[in-house]
Amino acid sequence: MKLWEKYFTPASVDEATALLVQFAGGARIVAGGTDLLVEAKASEHEPFQALIDITRIPEMTSIRADDAYVYIGGGVTHTEIVKSPLVLAHAICLAESCGVIGGPQVRNVATLGGNVAHALPAGDGTTSLVALDAEAEVIFQGTRSWMPLAALFRGPGVSLLNPTRDLLIGFRFHKLGAGAGTAFERIMRPQGVALPVLSCAVWVSLDGAAFGEVRACIAPNGPVPTRLTPVEKLLAGQPVSEDVIASACALARETVTVRTSKYRATSEYRVEMADVLLRRTLHQACARAGLAVPA
Ligand SMILES: Cc1cc2nc3c(=O)[nH]c(=O)nc-3n(C[C@H](O)[C@H](O)[C@H](O)COP(=O)(O)OP(=O)(O)OC[C@H]3O[C@@H](n4cnc5c(N)ncnc54)[C@H](O)[C@@H]3O)c2cc1C
Repeated sequence: MKLWEKYFTPASVDEATALLVQFAGGARIVAGGTDLLVEAKASEHEPFQALIDITRIPEMTSIRADDAYVYIGGGVTHTEIVKSPLVLAHAICLAESCGVIGGPQVRNVATLGGNVAHALPAGDGTTSLVALDAEAEVIFQGTRSWMPLAALFRGPGVSLLNPTRDLLIGFRFHKLGAGAGTAFERIMRPQGVALPVLSCAVWVSLDGAAFGEVRACIAPNGPVPTRLTPVEKLLAGQPVSEDVIASACALARETVTVRTSKYRATSEYRVEMADVLLRRTLHQACARAGLAVPA
């Protein structure tokens, strides 16, 4: 079965963009191919006129930092993220989420950019990027810019970016300050079904023995990845304690929108797990920030 006519491996963002323009909607960006090619094989899709493989573009396949931010190229694989000292130091939640995607063969080729561009409500890498309040660098309708990650999601599997015309170059998020910590956990059925029953990523900054700012993402929660804003507001400024965390978990149970999926779990079970995962990740992030939650 023929899946594409021509295959390009551009060496720069400019070269990739020029190819997108040249094919005027007939070419498709590919990274690891673990979503795109699996789907193309399963459908009666006409071969793509051209695939533009972005995994040889140095700017898109590196992880670096400056004084303020950590930058991760859209073509960086999950395996590279899991091993990165920068990610481990500043965003261990992201290493934890990328570390559970598929198996080693998938993680060795699948990329963070592909996870986000696919725009599923519960892509594991995406969930942690939301909690990290990440921004995405894109070429959208011919213009290069940074935008909030949330702006990329339009519905389940629907991205703002058109992968026959636009490009997701990479991501950035703030370095972790003193007194801050992150964590990710998920509940998963045995492999074979990609995407979790439920997952949760949190970013916590402490102000002495109280929560300062908190960011949390439970996924799936509605059609697009989203922050648990009411829960974040409840926690901000409150003492770090079991009682406060219990109130946050109770609010999460009321707030999350989770449907029953015949492949994953009932909505009732998922609501229970929202409580469990939020509690666990808050405990873990607080401990990493330097404060064990008092019993
Ligand atoms: C067996 C298996 C298990 C899996 N398990 C999980 C799991 O546990 N959790 C999970 O979240 N996912 C899982 N996945 C899904 C998949 O591996 C991830 O979403 C992965 O991150 C996709 O990245 P990729 O590089 O392979 O994307 P590709 O398949 O190359 O691309 C995906 C889509 O994004 C577009 N695209 C890719 N890169 C860019 C870019 N830089 N700019 C613009 N558009 C782009 C492509 O055109 C395509 O539409 C699994 C997949 C398989 C096959």
